[in-house]
Amino acid sequence: MSQPSMPRSPILLTPGPLTTSDRTRAAMLRDWGSWDGDFNAITARIRQQVLRIVHGEETHECVPMQGSGTFSVEAAIGTLVPRTGHVLVPNNGAYCQRIARICKVLGRKLSTIDYAEDRQVQAADVDRALAADPSITHVALVHCETGTGVLNPLHEVALVVARHGRGLIVDAMSSFGAIEIDARTTPFDAVIAASGKCLEGVPGMGFVIARRSVLQASEGNSPSLAMDLYDQWIYMGKTTQWRFTPPTHVVAALDEAIAQYVEEGGLPARGGRYARNCEALISGLGALGFRPYLDAAIQAPIIVTFHAPDDPAYDFKTFYNEVKKRGYILYPGKLTQVETFRVGCIGHFGEAGIPGAVAAVADTLKAMGIRQVAATATA
Ligand SMILES: *Cc1c(COP(=O)(O)O)cnc(C)c1O
Repeated sequence: MSQPSMPRSPILLTPGPLTTSDRTRAAMLRDWGSWDGDFNAITARIRQQVLRIVHGEETHECVPMQGSGTFSVEAAIGTLVPRTGHVLVPNNGAYCQRIARICKVLGRKLSTIDYAEDRQVQAADVDRALAADPSITHVALVHCETGTGVLNPLHEVALVVARHGRGLIVDAMSSFGAIEIDARTTPFDAVIAASGKCLEGVPGMGFVIARRSVLQASEGNSPSLAMDLYDQWIYMGKTTQWRFTPPTHVVAALDEAIAQYVEEGGLPARGGRYARNCEALISGLGALGFRPYLDAAIQAPIIVTFHAPDDPAYDFKTFYNEVKKRGYILYPGKLTQVETFRVGCIGHFGEAGIPGAVAAVADTLKAMGIRQVAATATA
Protein backbone atom coordinates (compact mmCIF):
# COMPACT_ATOMS: atom_id res chain seq x y z
CA MET A 1 0.00 0.00 0.00
CA SER A 2 2.45 2.66 1.12
CA GLN A 3 5.39 3.65 -1.01
CA PRO A 4 8.57 2.93 0.95
CA SER A 5 10.59 5.26 -1.28
CA MET A 6 8.47 8.26 -0.32
CA PRO A 7 10.36 10.47 2.15
CA ARG A 8 8.58 11.27 5.40
CA SER A 9 6.97 14.66 5.03
CA PRO A 10 8.17 17.36 7.42
CA ILE A 11 6.00 18.50 10.32
CA LEU A 12 4.16 21.67 9.34
CA LEU A 13 4.27 24.27 12.11
CA THR A 14 2.03 26.50 10.02
CA PRO A 15 -1.56 27.59 10.67
CA GLY A 16 -3.07 25.69 7.74
CA PRO A 17 -2.35 23.75 5.69
CA LEU A 18 -1.14 21.75 8.65
CA THR A 19 0.02 18.25 9.49
CA THR A 20 -2.84 15.76 9.13
CA SER A 21 -3.15 12.18 10.37
CA ASP A 22 -2.63 9.07 8.22
CA ARG A 23 -6.31 8.27 8.76
CA THR A 24 -7.38 11.65 7.37
CA ARG A 25 -5.11 11.34 4.35
CA ALA A 26 -6.25 7.76 3.73
CA ALA A 27 -9.85 8.97 3.50
CA MET A 28 -8.87 10.66 0.23
CA LEU A 29 -7.94 7.41 -1.50
CA ARG A 30 -11.46 6.89 -2.78
CA ASP A 31 -13.37 8.75 -5.49
CA TRP A 32 -16.93 9.92 -4.93
CA GLY A 33 -19.68 10.99 -7.30
CA SER A 34 -21.26 14.29 -6.36
CA TRP A 35 -24.76 12.90 -6.97
CA ASP A 36 -24.11 9.84 -4.86
CA GLY A 37 -26.34 9.43 -1.84
CA ASP A 38 -23.50 8.15 0.35
CA PHE A 39 -21.42 11.21 -0.47
CA ASN A 40 -24.27 13.58 0.26
CA ALA A 41 -24.80 11.84 3.60
CA ILE A 42 -21.20 12.79 4.42
CA THR A 43 -21.91 16.44 3.61
CA ALA A 44 -25.00 16.35 5.82
CA ARG A 45 -23.04 14.77 8.69
CA ILE A 46 -20.29 17.40 8.50
CA ARG A 47 -22.85 20.21 8.59
CA GLN A 48 -24.46 18.67 11.68
CA GLN A 49 -21.18 18.11 13.48
CA VAL A 50 -19.90 21.62 12.77
CA LEU A 51 -23.13 23.15 14.13
CA ARG A 52 -22.80 20.98 17.23
CA ILE A 53 -19.30 22.33 17.95
CA VAL A 54 -20.79 25.82 18.50
CA HIS A 55 -24.12 24.54 19.94
CA GLY A 56 -25.95 26.22 17.08
CA GLU A 57 -28.41 23.44 16.13
CA GLU A 58 -31.48 25.43 17.25
CA THR A 59 -30.59 28.80 15.79
CA HIS A 60 -28.05 28.48 12.99
CA GLU A 61 -27.32 26.71 9.71
CA CYS A 62 -23.97 25.44 8.46
CA VAL A 63 -23.44 26.29 4.80
CA PRO A 64 -20.27 24.82 3.28
CA MET A 65 -18.43 26.63 0.49
CA GLN A 66 -15.77 25.49 -1.98
CA GLY A 67 -12.37 27.18 -1.89
CA SER A 68 -9.91 28.43 0.70
CA GLY A 69 -11.10 30.15 3.87
CA THR A 70 -11.14 33.59 2.28
CA PHE A 71 -13.78 32.42 -0.21
CA SER A 72 -16.11 31.74 2.72
CA VAL A 73 -15.35 35.12 4.34
CA GLU A 74 -16.10 36.86 1.06
CA ALA A 75 -19.25 34.76 0.57
CA ALA A 76 -20.45 35.64 4.09
CA ILE A 77 -19.90 39.40 3.69
CA GLY A 78 -21.41 39.41 0.19
CA THR A 79 -24.47 37.37 1.16
CA LEU A 80 -25.25 38.45 4.72
CA VAL A 81 -24.52 42.19 4.50
CA PRO A 82 -27.18 43.92 2.35
CA ARG A 83 -25.90 46.10 -0.50
CA THR A 84 -26.81 49.18 1.53
CA GLY A 85 -25.05 47.80 4.62
CA HIS A 86 -22.16 49.41 6.50
CA VAL A 87 -19.45 47.22 8.05
CA LEU A 88 -17.25 48.19 11.00
CA VAL A 89 -13.94 46.30 11.13
CA PRO A 90 -11.91 46.54 14.36
CA ASN A 91 -8.47 46.20 12.77
CA ASN A 92 -5.44 44.78 14.56
CA GLY A 93 -3.82 42.76 11.81
CA ALA A 94 -3.51 41.29 8.34
CA TYR A 95 -6.72 39.22 8.35
CA CYS A 96 -8.76 42.21 9.59
CA GLN A 97 -7.30 44.17 6.68
CA ARG A 98 -8.33 41.38 4.32
CA ILE A 99 -11.95 41.73 5.48
CA ALA A 100 -11.73 45.49 4.94
CA ARG A 101 -10.54 44.87 1.38
CA ILE A 102 -13.37 42.42 0.78
CA CYS A 103 -15.87 45.11 1.85
CA LYS A 104 -14.28 47.57 -0.58
CA VAL A 105 -14.20 45.10 -3.48
CA LEU A 106 -17.84 44.16 -2.87
CA GLY A 107 -18.86 47.81 -2.57
CA ARG A 108 -20.02 47.58 1.05
CA LYS A 109 -19.54 50.76 3.08
CA LEU A 110 -16.61 50.34 5.47
CA SER A 111 -15.34 51.89 8.68
CA THR A 112 -12.41 50.67 10.76
CA ILE A 113 -11.06 51.06 14.27
CA ASP A 114 -7.30 50.81 13.87
CA TYR A 115 -5.04 49.28 16.50
CA ALA A 116 -1.33 48.54 16.69
CA GLU A 117 -0.72 44.89 15.78
CA ASP A 118 0.37 43.96 19.29
CA ARG A 119 -2.91 45.23 20.78
CA GLN A 120 -6.20 43.45 21.40
CA VAL A 121 -9.50 44.81 20.05
CA GLN A 122 -11.44 46.54 22.86
CA ALA A 123 -15.20 45.99 23.22
CA ALA A 124 -15.52 49.52 24.67
CA ASP A 125 -14.19 51.01 21.40
CA VAL A 126 -16.76 49.03 19.40
CA ASP A 127 -19.46 50.23 21.81
CA ARG A 128 -18.45 53.87 21.28
CA ALA A 129 -18.26 53.51 17.48
CA LEU A 130 -21.71 51.91 17.28
CA ALA A 131 -23.23 54.55 19.54
CA ALA A 132 -21.69 57.32 17.41
CA ASP A 133 -22.77 55.93 14.04
CA PRO A 134 -26.23 54.37 13.74
CA SER A 135 -25.63 53.70 10.01
CA ILE A 136 -23.25 50.82 10.90
CA THR A 137 -25.23 47.63 10.30
CA HIS A 138 -22.53 45.00 10.97
CA VAL A 139 -19.31 44.43 12.85
CA ALA A 140 -16.79 42.00 11.33
CA LEU A 141 -14.37 40.63 13.94
CA VAL A 142 -11.38 38.33 13.53
CA HIS A 143 -11.36 35.97 16.55
CA CYS A 144 -7.72 34.87 16.46
CA GLU A 145 -5.72 37.30 14.30
CA THR A 146 -3.38 34.76 12.70
CA GLY A 147 -1.09 37.51 11.37
CA THR A 148 0.33 37.86 14.90
CA GLY A 149 -1.53 35.36 17.11
CA VAL A 150 -3.63 37.87 19.09
CA LEU A 151 -6.84 36.51 20.57
CA ASN A 152 -9.62 39.10 20.30
CA PRO A 153 -12.41 39.26 22.95
CA LEU A 154 -15.21 37.73 20.89
CA HIS A 155 -17.73 37.26 23.70
CA GLU A 156 -17.44 40.85 24.99
CA VAL A 157 -17.66 42.31 21.47
CA ALA A 158 -20.65 40.06 20.65
CA LEU A 159 -22.57 41.31 23.69
CA VAL A 160 -21.90 44.94 22.73
CA VAL A 161 -22.96 44.39 19.10
CA ALA A 162 -26.15 42.59 20.19
CA ARG A 163 -27.01 45.36 22.67
CA HIS A 164 -26.87 47.84 19.77
CA GLY A 165 -29.02 45.55 17.61
CA ARG A 166 -26.39 45.19 14.86
CA GLY A 167 -25.11 42.04 13.14
CA LEU A 168 -21.82 40.31 13.99
CA ILE A 169 -19.73 38.38 11.46
CA VAL A 170 -16.81 36.46 12.96
CA ASP A 171 -13.76 35.20 11.10
CA ALA A 172 -12.98 32.28 13.41
CA MET A 173 -10.85 30.51 10.83
CA SER A 174 -7.87 29.78 13.03
CA SER A 175 -9.72 29.32 16.34
CA PHE A 176 -12.77 27.24 15.39
CA GLY A 177 -12.79 23.90 17.16
CA ALA A 178 -10.01 24.83 19.59
CA ILE A 179 -11.28 27.96 21.35
CA GLU A 180 -14.83 27.90 22.70
CA ILE A 181 -17.58 29.71 20.77
CA ASP A 182 -21.09 29.03 22.11
CA ALA A 183 -24.00 30.27 19.99
CA ARG A 184 -26.34 29.94 23.00
CA THR A 185 -24.50 32.63 24.96
CA THR A 186 -22.41 34.52 22.38
CA PRO A 187 -24.77 36.11 19.84
CA PHE A 188 -23.54 36.17 16.23
CA ASP A 189 -24.97 36.32 12.71
CA ALA A 190 -22.13 34.29 11.22
CA VAL A 191 -19.02 32.39 12.25
CA ILE A 192 -16.66 31.42 9.45
CA ALA A 193 -14.14 28.55 9.53
CA ALA A 194 -12.42 26.11 7.19
CA SER A 195 -11.47 22.47 6.76
CA GLY A 196 -7.71 22.81 7.01
CA LYS A 197 -7.18 24.48 10.39
CA CYS A 198 -8.02 23.32 13.94
CA LEU A 199 -10.31 20.52 12.72
CA GLU A 200 -7.13 19.12 11.13
CA GLY A 201 -8.64 18.35 7.73
CA VAL A 202 -7.00 19.21 4.42
CA PRO A 203 -7.52 22.64 2.84
CA GLY A 204 -10.12 23.21 0.11
CA MET A 205 -13.43 24.18 1.69
CA GLY A 206 -14.82 26.53 4.29
CA PHE A 207 -18.14 26.87 6.02
CA VAL A 208 -20.30 29.67 7.30
CA ILE A 209 -22.41 29.07 10.39
CA ALA A 210 -25.16 31.59 9.79
CA ARG A 211 -28.16 32.53 11.90
CA ARG A 212 -31.15 30.94 10.17
CA SER A 213 -33.30 34.10 10.20
CA VAL A 214 -30.44 36.16 8.72
CA LEU A 215 -29.82 33.59 5.99
CA GLN A 216 -33.55 33.47 5.16
CA ALA A 217 -33.56 37.24 4.64
CA SER A 218 -30.41 37.30 2.47
CA GLU A 219 -31.82 36.36 -0.94
CA GLY A 220 -30.51 38.58 -3.71
CA ASN A 221 -27.77 40.26 -1.64
CA SER A 222 -24.82 38.46 -3.20
CA PRO A 223 -23.00 40.21 -6.04
CA SER A 224 -21.53 36.80 -7.00
CA LEU A 225 -23.17 33.75 -8.53
CA ALA A 226 -20.72 31.10 -7.29
CA MET A 227 -20.28 32.57 -3.83
CA ASP A 228 -23.93 33.12 -3.00
CA LEU A 229 -24.45 31.40 0.37
CA TYR A 230 -28.21 31.78 0.18
CA ASP A 231 -28.36 29.91 -3.11
CA GLN A 232 -25.95 27.25 -1.85
CA TRP A 233 -28.12 26.77 1.24
CA ILE A 234 -31.44 26.61 -0.63
CA TYR A 235 -30.05 24.23 -3.25
CA MET A 236 -28.51 21.98 -0.63
CA GLY A 237 -31.77 21.93 1.30
CA LYS A 238 -33.72 20.89 -1.79
CA THR A 239 -31.30 18.37 -3.28
CA THR A 240 -28.83 17.41 -0.45
CA GLN A 241 -26.13 18.23 -3.05
CA TRP A 242 -23.61 21.01 -3.44
CA ARG A 243 -24.72 23.56 -6.05
CA PHE A 244 -21.53 23.21 -8.09
CA THR A 245 -18.82 20.50 -8.09
CA PRO A 246 -17.87 19.76 -4.47
CA PRO A 247 -14.25 19.16 -3.38
CA THR A 248 -15.15 15.50 -2.80
CA HIS A 249 -11.81 14.31 -1.41
CA VAL A 250 -11.59 17.30 0.92
CA VAL A 251 -15.10 16.59 2.19
CA ALA A 252 -14.29 12.93 2.82
CA ALA A 253 -11.08 13.88 4.64
CA LEU A 254 -12.89 16.45 6.80
CA ASP A 255 -15.48 13.85 7.79
CA GLU A 256 -12.69 11.53 8.93
CA ALA A 257 -10.87 14.40 10.68
CA ILE A 258 -14.04 15.33 12.59
CA ALA A 259 -14.51 11.70 13.68
CA GLN A 260 -11.01 11.85 15.21
CA TYR A 261 -11.80 15.25 16.75
CA VAL A 262 -14.77 13.71 18.54
CA GLU A 263 -12.76 10.62 19.58
CA GLU A 264 -10.02 12.84 21.00
CA GLY A 265 -12.58 14.52 23.26
CA GLY A 266 -13.80 17.44 21.15
CA LEU A 267 -12.99 21.07 21.84
CA PRO A 268 -11.57 20.79 25.38
CA ALA A 269 -9.12 18.09 24.28
CA ARG A 270 -8.12 19.82 21.04
CA GLY A 271 -7.77 23.22 22.72
CA GLY A 272 -5.85 21.67 25.61
CA ARG A 273 -3.39 19.95 23.31
CA TYR A 274 -2.72 23.19 21.42
CA ALA A 275 -2.32 25.13 24.68
CA ARG A 276 0.32 22.60 25.85
CA ASN A 277 2.07 22.91 22.49
CA CYS A 278 2.04 26.69 22.81
CA GLU A 279 3.50 26.61 26.34
CA ALA A 280 6.20 24.13 25.35
CA LEU A 281 7.06 26.26 22.34
CA ILE A 282 7.33 29.56 24.22
CA SER A 283 9.34 28.04 27.06
CA GLY A 284 11.54 25.96 24.73
CA LEU A 285 12.42 28.78 22.35
CA GLY A 286 12.55 31.14 25.36
CA ALA A 287 15.37 29.03 26.81
CA LEU A 288 17.28 29.65 23.55
CA GLY A 289 16.77 33.41 24.00
CA PHE A 290 13.76 33.95 21.70
CA ARG A 291 11.13 36.44 22.83
CA PRO A 292 7.47 36.27 21.75
CA TYR A 293 6.17 39.42 20.07
CA LEU A 294 2.95 39.47 22.13
CA ASP A 295 2.17 39.76 25.84
CA ALA A 296 1.18 36.34 27.21
CA ALA A 297 -2.22 37.76 28.26
CA ILE A 298 -3.38 38.29 24.66
CA GLN A 299 -1.59 35.33 23.02
CA ALA A 300 -3.91 32.72 21.44
CA PRO A 301 -2.64 29.11 21.65
CA ILE A 302 -2.71 28.84 17.84
CA ILE A 303 0.35 30.57 16.42
CA VAL A 304 3.22 32.43 18.08
CA THR A 305 5.17 35.33 16.57
CA PHE A 306 8.80 35.51 17.72
CA HIS A 307 11.34 38.29 17.27
CA ALA A 308 14.02 37.21 14.82
CA PRO A 309 17.56 36.81 16.20
CA ASP A 310 19.38 40.13 16.47
CA ASP A 311 22.54 38.83 14.85
CA PRO A 312 24.15 39.68 11.48
CA ALA A 313 24.42 35.95 10.74
CA TYR A 314 20.61 35.65 10.66
CA ASP A 315 18.43 35.68 7.60
CA PHE A 316 14.99 34.06 7.47
CA LYS A 317 15.54 32.09 4.28
CA THR A 318 18.62 30.25 5.54
CA PHE A 319 17.02 29.78 8.97
CA TYR A 320 13.90 28.34 7.32
CA ASN A 321 15.89 25.96 5.10
CA GLU A 322 18.10 24.74 7.94
CA VAL A 323 15.09 24.03 10.16
CA LYS A 324 13.36 22.34 7.21
CA LYS A 325 16.38 20.04 6.71
CA ARG A 326 15.78 18.94 10.30
CA GLY A 327 12.14 18.08 9.57
CA TYR A 328 10.07 21.15 10.49
CA ILE A 329 8.38 23.84 8.40
CA LEU A 330 8.21 27.32 9.98
CA TYR A 331 6.16 30.32 8.86
CA PRO A 332 7.45 33.78 7.92
CA GLY A 333 6.45 36.82 9.95
CA LYS A 334 3.73 39.10 8.61
CA LEU A 335 4.80 42.36 10.23
CA THR A 336 6.25 45.28 8.31
CA GLN A 337 7.88 47.13 11.22
CA VAL A 338 9.68 44.32 13.06
CA GLU A 339 11.67 41.29 11.82
CA THR A 340 9.80 38.22 13.08
CA PHE A 341 8.94 34.63 12.28
CA ARG A 342 5.92 32.57 13.29
CA VAL A 343 5.47 29.05 14.60
CA GLY A 344 2.09 27.29 14.59
CA CYS A 345 0.91 25.21 17.56
CA ILE A 346 -1.81 23.38 15.63
CA GLY A 347 -1.90 20.16 13.63
CA HIS A 348 -1.65 16.41 14.08
CA PHE A 349 1.77 15.83 15.58
CA GLY A 350 2.51 14.09 18.87
CA GLU A 351 3.75 15.58 22.13
CA ALA A 352 7.30 15.19 20.80
CA GLY A 353 6.59 17.60 17.93
CA ILE A 354 7.34 20.87 19.71
CA PRO A 355 10.42 19.66 21.65
CA GLY A 356 11.67 18.26 18.34
CA ALA A 357 11.17 21.62 16.65
CA VAL A 358 12.93 23.44 19.50
CA ALA A 359 15.90 21.07 19.14
CA ALA A 360 15.93 21.70 15.37
CA VAL A 361 16.03 25.46 15.98
CA ALA A 362 18.85 25.09 18.56
CA ASP A 363 20.84 23.03 16.09
CA THR A 364 20.16 25.56 13.32
CA LEU A 365 21.42 28.46 15.46
CA LYS A 366 24.70 26.59 15.91
CA ALA A 367 24.94 25.72 12.21
CA MET A 368 24.36 29.36 11.23
CA GLY A 369 26.76 30.69 13.86
CA ILE A 370 24.05 32.78 15.54
CA ARG A 371 25.00 33.71 19.08
CA GLN A 372 22.89 36.75 19.79
CA VAL A 373 19.21 35.76 19.79
CA ALA A 374 17.46 38.40 21.91
CA ALA A 375 17.83 42.07 21.05
CA THR A 376 17.76 43.00 24.74
CA ALA A 377 20.43 40.50 25.79
CA THR A 378 23.61 42.09 27.10
CA ALA A 379 26.31 41.31 24.58
C1 LIG B 1 -6.36 31.00 7.39
C2 LIG B 1 -7.18 32.20 7.69
C3 LIG B 1 -8.07 32.72 6.74
C4 LIG B 1 -8.24 32.13 5.37
O1 LIG B 1 -7.09 32.17 4.62
P1 LIG B 1 -7.02 31.32 3.27
O2 LIG B 1 -5.61 31.51 2.84
O3 LIG B 1 -8.01 31.86 2.34
O4 LIG B 1 -7.36 29.91 3.67
C5 LIG B 1 -8.86 33.79 7.10
N1 LIG B 1 -8.77 34.33 8.32
C6 LIG B 1 -7.92 33.88 9.26
C7 LIG B 1 -7.91 34.53 10.59
C8 LIG B 1 -7.09 32.79 8.98
O5 LIG B 1 -6.26 32.33 9.91
